[in-house]
Amino acid sequence: MLYYTQSTAPIKNCRHKAYAFLAAPTEGMFHMEDCIFCKIAAGEIPATKVYEDEAVLAFRDLDPQAPTHVLIIPKEHIASAAELTPENSGVVAHIFEVAARLAKELGLEKGFRVVNNCGPDGMQSVQHLHFHLLGGRQMGWPPFPPQP
Ligand code: AMP
Repeated sequence: MLYYTQSTAPIKNCRHKAYAFLAAPTEGMFHMEDCIFCKIAAGEIPATKVYEDEAVLAFRDLDPQAPTHVLIIPKEHIASAAELTPENSGVVAHIFEVAARLAKELGLEKGFRVVNNCGPDGMQSVQHLHFHLLGGRQMGWPPFPPQP
């Protein structure tokens, strides 16, 4: 079941092309019932927010895997990266811009990692597109256990 919210505040002083999708009223943006991240975006359940604008929300992960672990989500319900299309993918560029800004604000000057888990093989556990912004420690590679 989908329900609709309305947001009509335009983004001002926007230089980035990816904001074109925000310049018009975002009437018709939808939220998915029973989606925990839609509920966080709608303010129905609490989260420790670190950034918010018309299109995206960033909040602290409940189970941090690094000293800094923030999730950045589109407010519109997109189930996963596999559901991105020419019509809805503009928000991804905006999310990466927000990630770069947050990395500076959160002191990740030595670097960071942005992760998207998609589908069962990708170990996606919440079915609402989200990007993990991780930093504050040395990362490893590859991101999966070595084969026996
Ligand atoms: P993924 O496994 O890539 O789908 O990531 C989902 C992430 O959401 C996990 O890192 C969880 O710890 C995190 N998470 C789940 N519920 C919440 C919540 N209510 N607030 C903050 N983070 C959450």
